[in-house]
Amino acid sequence: MKLCDKLQNIQPSPTLAVNAKAAELRAQGADIISFGVGEPDFDTPAHVRQAGIDAINQGFTRYTPVDGIPELKKAIADKFKRDNGLDYALDEIIVNCGGKHSGYLVMQALLNPGDEVIVPAPYWVSYPPMVILAGGTPVIVPTREEDEFKLNPADLKAAINSKTRALILNSPSNPTGSVYTAEELKPLAEMCAEAGVLIVSDEIYECMVFDGLKFTATASLSEKVFQHTVTLNGVSKTYAMTGWRIGYMAGPKDLIKACNKIQSQSTSNPCSISQKAAVAALSGPQDEVGRMCAEFVKRRDYIMERLLAIPQVTCPRPRGAFYAMPNFSAYFGKKVGGKVINGSVDLSGFLLEEGHIATVAGAAFGEDTCIRLSFATSMEKITEGLNRLEAALKKLS
Ligand code: GLU
Repeated sequence: MKLCDKLQNIQPSPTLAVNAKAAELRAQGADIISFGVGEPDFDTPAHVRQAGIDAINQGFTRYTPVDGIPELKKAIADKFKRDNGLDYALDEIIVNCGGKHSGYLVMQALLNPGDEVIVPAPYWVSYPPMVILAGGTPVIVPTREEDEFKLNPADLKAAINSKTRALILNSPSNPTGSVYTAEELKPLAEMCAEAGVLIVSDEIYECMVFDGLKFTATASLSEKVFQHTVTLNGVSKTYAMTGWRIGYMAGPKDLIKACNKIQSQSTSNPCSISQKAAVAALSGPQDEVGRMCAEFVKRRDYIMERLLAIPQVTCPRPRGAFYAMPNFSAYFGKKVGGKVINGSVDLSGFLLEEGHIATVAGAAFGEDTCIRLSFATSMEKITEGLNRLEAALKKLS
C-alpha cells in the first residue's frame, strides 16, 4: 500500500521495540535482563490503584471533557503551584493520553511545513519523529559528554533562525540523566523567549533528582520565559503509572486551546478511570515518590561504580531520571566470531544475543558512541545484568 511520505523518515519507537524484543525472547524461554525501556518497576501506589477501582465501581466510565475532568485539572494547577510556584488557570492546562501524546499535540498545533524545532542530542527517541509527523524539520544540535550532555548557549544561538519555532528541553534528561541548574537553564530560556521561540520543557522526570540538586521548572525562571514555555509532565514516572496513560501540559492559552481541538478530533478524552487515579496520585500522600527516588539513587551509585570499573568506559554521572548513557566507543572496531562491532546498534545487538541483556543503542538517541541503560529494574537484576555485560565484553577482541 502506498503510505504517506513522512513515514519514510521515521522508525517505530526504538525503546518500545527493545521492550517488545525482550518480551519475545522471554516468551521463547530466554532469560533476558532488561536495561531497555524506561519504566519504573514499582507498583502504582495502593491508594492510586484504589481510586481507579472506585471509579469503575462508581460507573465513572463514560466520556469526560476532552481536556480532562475539572477535578484533575485543579489537582494539576495545585501541583504547579505547590511544587514549582507557578500559577496556571484551568484553561491553560490540558490532560493528555501520556507525556508522549502531549509532545505530539504541541508539534501538531505549532508547526507548518518547513518550520524548525531545535532538539539537543542525545534526545529522547520520540522528539524528532514528533516534529516530522507534524510536517516540521528537527534541527539536531549535538552536546558534549564533557558538558554532561547539556546544551551550550552558543550552540543554541547558532541554531536559531527565522524558521525556528521551538526548542525541546528535557531536564532531568532521558537518556543521559543530566539535570540543568537554574543558572544553566536561564540563558537558554531567555534566548528563546527573546527570539519568540517556544520552549517545550519536558519535565516528566521532575521528581527524580539526586545529590541534593534542586529541580528548576523552566517556566519559573521569569515572567517572559513563562509566556514562552509549555511545560509537559505526567504521572507515569513519578507514580509508576506508565500503563494508565495520563500526561498533562500547561502553557499559553491559545496553544492549549489548539491542542484541545486536535485532541477532540483524534483521541477524545484521556481514559476516565485513569484520570480519577491521577487525581489521587497528585493530591494524595507523596511518600512513595521519595521511597522510589531513594531506591533509584542506590541503583545509580551501584551502576556507576560498575560501569566506571569497565576498562575504557566513560559515563557522566546521572543526576536524575533513571538512565545512564555510558560511552562504549572504545569497543567499536572489535570483533566477535568474525563480525565487527561497528557502532552502538551492533554493540546493543551483540549484548542481547551474547549476554542476554537488553539495552538501547545510543544511535536511537542521536549519540552513537553510547548505549543507554535504564536502571528502573531491581538491584538483583542490575547486578546480574552487569556481570553479563562484563562477561560479554571479554568475548570481543
Ligand atoms: N520514556 C521511556 C523510555 O525512553 C518509555 C518508552 C517510550 O515511550 O519511549 O524508555
